[in-house]
Formats: sequence, C-alpha cells, structure tokens
Amino acid sequence: MAGHCGVMAARPWARLGMGCHSHWLQGCRLSLGLPGARLAHTGAVGRLQREYDAVVIGAGHNGLVAAAYLQRAGVRTAVLEKRHVLGGAAVTEEIVPGFKFSRASYLLSLLRPQIYTELELQRHGLRVLPRDPYSFTPLLEDRSPPRSLLLGHNMAQTQQQIAQFSQKDAQAYPEYEAFMGGLVSALDPLLDAPPVDTAALGKGSLLQRLSALRALQPLLRAGTIPMDTGLCRSHTASAPSGLALGKQLPHYYEVLTAPISKILDQWFESEPLKATLATDAVIGAMASPHTPGSGYVLLHHVMGELEGQRGAWGYVAGGMGALSQAIAHAAAAQGAHIFAEKAVCHLLLGRDGRAQGVALQDGTEVRSKLVLSNASPQITFLELMPQEQLPKSFVQRIQQVDTRSPVTKINVAVDRLPSFLAAPNTHNGQPLPHHQCSIHLNCEGTHLLHQAFTEATHGHPSSRPMIELCIPSALDPGLAPPGCHVVSLFTQYTPSVLAGGQPWDEQARNAYADTVFDCIEAYAPGFKASVIGRDILTPPDLERIFGLPGGNIFHGGMSLDQLYFARPAPSYSGYRSPVPGLYLCGSGAHPGGGVMGAAGRNAAQVALEDFRRL
Ligand SMILES: Cc1cc2nc3c(=O)[nH]c(=O)nc-3n(C[C@H](O)[C@H](O)[C@H](O)COP(=O)(O)OP(=O)(O)OC[C@H]3O[C@@H](n4cnc5c(N)ncnc54)[C@H](O)[C@@H]3O)c2cc1C
Repeated sequence: MAGHCGVMAARPWARLGMGCHSHWLQGCRLSLGLPGARLAHTGAVGRLQREYDAVVIGAGHNGLVAAAYLQRAGVRTAVLEKRHVLGGAAVTEEIVPGFKFSRASYLLSLLRPQIYTELELQRHGLRVLPRDPYSFTPLLEDRSPPRSLLLGHNMAQTQQQIAQFSQKDAQAYPEYEAFMGGLVSALDPLLDAPPVDTAALGKGSLLQRLSALRALQPLLRAGTIPMDTGLCRSHTASAPSGLALGKQLPHYYEVLTAPISKILDQWFESEPLKATLATDAVIGAMASPHTPGSGYVLLHHVMGELEGQRGAWGYVAGGMGALSQAIAHAAAAQGAHIFAEKAVCHLLLGRDGRAQGVALQDGTEVRSKLVLSNASPQITFLELMPQEQLPKSFVQRIQQVDTRSPVTKINVAVDRLPSFLAAPNTHNGQPLPHHQCSIHLNCEGTHLLHQAFTEATHGHPSSRPMIELCIPSALDPGLAPPGCHVVSLFTQYTPSVLAGGQPWDEQARNAYADTVFDCIEAYAPGFKASVIGRDILTPPDLERIFGLPGGNIFHGGMSLDQLYFARPAPSYSGYRSPVPGLYLCGSGAHPGGGVMGAAGRNAAQVALEDFRRL
C-alpha cells in the first residue's frame, strides 16, 4: 500500500454539496474521517406516518423514480429503504476517507430521457459529465510503445485508430454503428411501456380487450422505424439504405439471438476492436462472447444516450449517488416521504389477499392501498411474504430465475494517476484524454474473454480477468483529495460459488484482487505502489450489501428467456403480481437492469391506473 496523499482532516457532518431541501432529507450528511465512513442520508425520525396511499419498498433509483411519478399524480407516497444511504446500486459512498466512490454502478447512459426532463433532474442537481473519447484498449505487446485503441465520437479520428489494426475494419465501422443504431431505435418504443399482457387479450369485456390491444402498439412500432443508413455489407445488396427496419427483421433477429462473436466476425477482422466491442455483450452476464443471445446484452448497453448522443456513457458529477439524490429531491419536492434505515420485514395482506401495506423490522406497520417493491423479485416474493399466498407455479418461476453473476467490483483509492505503457503520463501528471475512458484490460482478443469465462464455469476466478478500469476523478476532481484519484474496477469472471464450495473469505477475496492488480501493473507499472485503499465486492458481497440476488447486477440475468414477456415470470411481466395491490418496480421487471428508471416509471403508471379504479 502506498503512503497517504494529503487526505483532508476529518470533517464530521459536513453538508452534501447539493443541499437537502425537504425535511425528510434534512438528515443528509457527509461524514468524513470515521472508519468505514459513508455518505449517510438518514431520514428524520418520527415523521413516518401510519398510512399512505402508496408505499415503495426500497430507495434504489427505480423506487425513487416510481415515488416521484406517483406523488406527482397526487398519490401520497412513502419510500422505505433498509440501508443508511439512498440509491440502491446507484450510490456514492466514502469507503476510504476523502475518496467518494460510485460504489456499484458508475456510468450513466441508459436513464430514459423522459425521466430526465419530466422530473427536472437538472433543476434538482443532476450534472452529467460526458466522455469523449470513451473507450481505451491498451495492448500488451513486445514493441515499444505498445499500441492502443482509442474510440470516441469523432468518427474520422476513431477510424484512424482502428486503421492501425485493419483498414477494412476502419471502413466498416461507420456502417456497423449505423446498423446497431437502427436496431436500438427499433427497440426504443418497447422500453417505456409495460410488455403486452397476453392473458388480458383474451379475457374481460370488449372494452378491456381493446385496451389490452392498445398495449400492442409499442411492439408493432418496434422494428418498423425507418433507418437512415445502410446495413452490414453482406446485407446491403438486398437491402439498400433508407428501407424500413421491419424489412430487415432477419438481421435484427440474428443480432438478438446469435453469439456476439458471430456478429462481430461478419463485420470485422481485428481482434482488439472485436474484443473491445464484445465487452458490452458480456458485461454483468455469466456469458462468453460465444454464448448465443450475447448480442442482446450488447444492444442493451448501447441503447442509451447522453445529451442527445446515442450510445454515449458519462459520469455523474459527485458520483452515481448524485443521480439518486436528484431523483429523491424531485420526489421529495412533490411531497413524497423518503426514509433510510427502514427495513421492510414483511408485507401486510388483507383477508381478501390484497396488499395493505408493510411491517418494518422495528415492528412499525405502515398501511397503504398500493405497495410497490423495488427489491428484487426474490426478496419480494420469497422473503417478504408467506409462500402460501402465491400460486405454486409462480413461486417456482421466481426460484428458477437465473441470477448467476460473474462480477466483482473493486473500488480503489490511489495517490496518483495510472500511467500506461501504451500512453505514458506527462510530467505534470494531469489527466490525458484516455484517462476519462472505460479502459479495457486483458482485451487483446475475444479468446481472452472466453478463457476468462471458461475458468469461472469451473468455479475458479479468472486468472486473467476482463477488467474495465475507470477513473471518474479524471473528469470530476472533487471525488478525491488533490493529486489523488478514485479508480473503479469492474471485473469478471468470478463465480458466486467457488469450486469445492470454498467460501469467498478474506483470503479468496484478496487473492483475486491481487490477481487483478498484477494485471493492471503489467499495463501501467507503478499502479500497485499507488494504492491507498481498496473495497472488494465479490458476488456474495454484492448480495449482502445491496440485496442483489446472487450478486447479479441486474436482479436477474438479461438472457432472452428472462426478458420482456418473461420478466420476472411469464404472464407477470406487466409490473402487477399475483397479489392485488403489489407491484414490482425494479430491475427484476421489464426492461431490466441498468440505471434506466424505466421499470420505476412504467410500474408507477400501471399502479396509478389501478389506484384510479379503487
Ligand atoms: C457493481 C455494479 C456495477 C454496475 N454498473 C452499472 C453502470 O455503470 N451503469 C448502469 O447503468 N448500471 C450499472 N449497474 C446496474 C445498475 O446499477 C442496477 O441495475 C440498478 O441500479 C438497479 O436499480 P433498482 O432501483 O432497480 O434496484 P436496486 O438499486 O437494487 O435497489 C433496490 C433497493 O431496495 C432496497 N431493499 C431491498 N430489500 C429491502 C427491504 N426489505 N426493505 C427496504 N429496502 C429494501 C435495497 O437496499 C436497494 O436500495 C451496475 C450494478 C452493479 C452492482
């Protein structure tokens, strides 16, 4: 471990930069200098009322979004979060004194643009720091200096970078981007509405069936969006540019269902480029680039936008927790009551089986007409309510959800900026353009990602893991003391259950982190000596701290069998549950994981419809 770098003296109860307007949030404090200090957002004690129109279990960003929309519509809403900090997996925490980490999620892109504007998040303190360039893949090579691949929004410069490896790939790249962009536009309408309720299409009055038919609109709109540009060259002969995407459904279908390696091989020949693009197809998934369906995961990661730039990812100023704070402020400004350190113990059910509120761990009961759960489907249905109240087949489906996760997140405090052999730092030590990027290590070829995956399938953490290294403080210096930086390491593959049932104990966690650090050292000598502190979050840690089942960052895998109609279970994909009055509003529901807010917004709309009928 390296020496200290001028970490600020302890400053107990310093105020959060963005201020706390509502009295429920008046407890917002930034505590520094305490061992294991955290950004704490404790709700004011004694304000919790015994009755609301709606209670939201969990203050993940989706729960907060749901609360903001409900309260905006005049539904008196309370949010009850079990942790001391709001945001779920979208939090800023001060793990090492003076260093503010986006402890779990760290990059923003997927947040639905409507939420940004409708909740006026900018007015409530959200500031996004876009990145350009955005991707840097340094290579380990026997030449000096080794090559690297830098991708950004300037297409000409990006093509020049790709041309170092293949002229052919450089030419194909703009077409590939347009092709993927077309598919993403086609899927867009599906994100902001509940999945089609197939059961409702065949039951109820004519009016009810017609209303269920209306829900088909987004599905019909998907796939019929006109495309501006051409398709993959192997496809262009039969499909000149400008045709409706609907006519290209076979290609669309192939991307959704094929292994991403097959799709990328159709477009490109250079391994560093293919491996870099493939990382988006396996991120968060216990899958290799050769796994069928990995193409969808890639689409999921390029379907966002930032400041109008499709597919762009950026940092949130102040860390991801600042986004959750902005949503919480928007909800509180409407009048929602938001409380931290209020763990829900179980659901209250009426004799008729309807949800009637929740009981907290301290015994308090809070009554409500609606209960929305931001907790995972597993916590909601398998822990917070008696199983007898649910159809057996439903319980079985929830038990079967694939929650395997390969992710270990390591947050590192360093006393200097990493200097990469492929792009050494200048003497003044100031961040260079590549420092703001997602820095992909062990990404020289897709075979490396596949090897790393294969080891994990045998219960062993990868010996050469896939590493996405980010340095948010390169763009947001306030996250760390002067000259120091916060480094986020999103790594895979680490199985949640180790071979032979061995525990993920201190030794195993440190051994894996040391492997990761050795890899980084090879690309950026001096990294290990710069480390001041580290926070290792293996799959069991992610489950224990954040309530993510199996450590799965999406509340359940994003494989094709667990999406849309089938998320979290077939016939229950529309946010309603077998318990009347209980709704799922988190990532375990459509359209799934990521800091998107869509599940929260859609669920609030469905719950509101029902509330108006009560
Ligand atoms: C390591 C990691 C990195 C990631 N990186 C990114 C990224 O860079 N960009 C991105 O877009 N996405 C990323 N993701 C995914 C994304 O963060 C999640 O999909 C998303 O934040 C989930 O939001 P949510 O609101 O649906 O649920 P959660 O954030 O899981 O919130 C659920 C909340 O419910 C609370 N809760 C559970 N049980 C109870 C109870 N009994 N009583 C009260 N409260 C309860 C939990 O404490 C939690 O606060 C990452 C996730 C992880 C773990």
